[in-house]
Amino acid sequence: MSTTTAGTAPTSTPTAGPAGFEVVRRPDPAPEERRAEILAAPGFGKYFSDHLARATWTRADGWHDRRVEAYGPIALDPSAAVLHYAQEIFEGMKAYRHADGSVWTFRPEVNAARFARSAARLALPQLPSEVFLGSLEALVGTDVDWVPSGGESSLYLRPFMFASEAFLGVRPAAEVTYMVIASPAGSYFPGGVRPVSIWLSQEYIRAAPGGTGAAKCGGNYAASLCSQAEASEASCDQVVFLDAVEHRWVEELGGMNLFFVHADGTVVTPELSGTILEGVTRDSIITLLREQGHEVREEKVDIADWRDGVASGRITEIFACGTAAVVTPVGRLVEPGAEHVTGAGETGEVTARIRSALLDVQYGRVEDTHGWLHRLA
Ligand SMILES: *Cc1c(COP(=O)(O)O)cnc(C)c1O
Repeated sequence: MSTTTAGTAPTSTPTAGPAGFEVVRRPDPAPEERRAEILAAPGFGKYFSDHLARATWTRADGWHDRRVEAYGPIALDPSAAVLHYAQEIFEGMKAYRHADGSVWTFRPEVNAARFARSAARLALPQLPSEVFLGSLEALVGTDVDWVPSGGESSLYLRPFMFASEAFLGVRPAAEVTYMVIASPAGSYFPGGVRPVSIWLSQEYIRAAPGGTGAAKCGGNYAASLCSQAEASEASCDQVVFLDAVEHRWVEELGGMNLFFVHADGTVVTPELSGTILEGVTRDSIITLLREQGHEVREEKVDIADWRDGVASGRITEIFACGTAAVVTPVGRLVEPGAEHVTGAGETGEVTARIRSALLDVQYGRVEDTHGWLHRLA
């Protein structure tokens, strides 16, 4: 193996966990007071639970060495292919603590299926859905005390897979590492939901036809960072990307899908074109909006309609969505020399209602009529 975690000396007896994951508890977990301190103000992506889940794939032996072990730095050969050719994919999910103390995740089989599609696009091996689900159960079962409670807090789960083979030749790696790490997360909007401002990316695009836009891979994010820097310079929170061919059709933000609420109650979201990431939140919101009586259309959205629609009042609300921020109202579209404001700095009614509807399911406050929840602990 060319990756190992530091400090792996197992001092506890391994126990058998879900989907063949052996659990090797670390002898030195964070003291209870330290964990409590972190969970009281976790922020996002800064702190990690005591363990990780991992598995190794080799062309010769397939998936093996499924383990939960101590979280810690990994030793990676400097020639590991991921460091040179970015053969890497990831997922983003959350574990939610319900009022009765039980811990659940949301539609994990959809993330497992997307992970498999991303893997196929990046020439990585398929991780069976039951191993993906088993890794989440094994890790969250071990680190259940790291799942915060209260408000919109959660334990953010980050499954990822990368080419760990030590080889500089350009071809799909013959050795791959899969891991899941977990990071406690507070409310995305600690001061209450607030509309964000969006920079319209000028020269850069996120994804092109035939490219990797529909795969959740690190490379897409690397390519979006200089637009994000432009956005920050223009005092914007996020970037929206147009299509690569005509620079006309609205695709999505760097990591969130978009919805447009019309004055007649119709809601429009850009259709899945092969260059848009198919969000689990996007799909769930389409279902919930229809149940609330809205007509929802998936179609091409012209950037000119965004400008005109908010000016004329035909578009009354715009929101972005994704696992991390759930539903985020979009208040301003900014481009050189112009600003297009929606909703006068307030969160719209439809946006607020869909946000609560989704959170109510995720936190177990309403009946899960779609079978979207999966118990982890
Ligand atoms: C992850 C992601 C989303 C949101 O997907 P969810 O499954 O809803 O979290 C949207 N766009 C991009 C580019 C993403 O990477």
